[in-house]
Amino acid sequence: MTYVVTENCIKCKYMDCVEVCPVDCFYVGAETLVINPDECIDCGVCEPECPAEAIKPDTEPGMEGWIAFNAKYAALWPNVTEKGDTPEDAKEWDGKPGKLEAVFGSSDPASA
Ligand code: SF4
Ligand code: SF4
Repeated sequence: MTYVVTENCIKCKYMDCVEVCPVDCFYVGAETLVINPDECIDCGVCEPECPAEAIKPDTEPGMEGWIAFNAKYAALWPNVTEKGDTPEDAKEWDGKPGKLEAVFGSSDPASA
């Protein structure tokens, strides 16, 4: 079992999550973060830290595609352990539907 970062992280990137992770398993891209499912120890500490409520346990329904998304990009993106600057437009994007398709070109996280 692992925790995964889901759609509402896109364009938010508050990064409150990364500094609490005891095993430093967050990875950062230009528009969002992911968790490496092979490194996450399932402690759950990051979940309540995310103001965008974008971090979910993979036991929730419909997480299969997000596990694939997190695994794929964790292998491609650099590790991140320190909170960066939040984008100025983060609040505008919080909760907006269709962010995955707008940024990654697919509404299916498994093929994004
Ligand atoms: S706190 Fe939430 S929205 Fe922010 S970077 Fe972490 S997972 Fe993404
Ligand atoms: S559940 Fe724990 S180990 Fe996994 S990403 Fe969150 S803080 Fe890190």
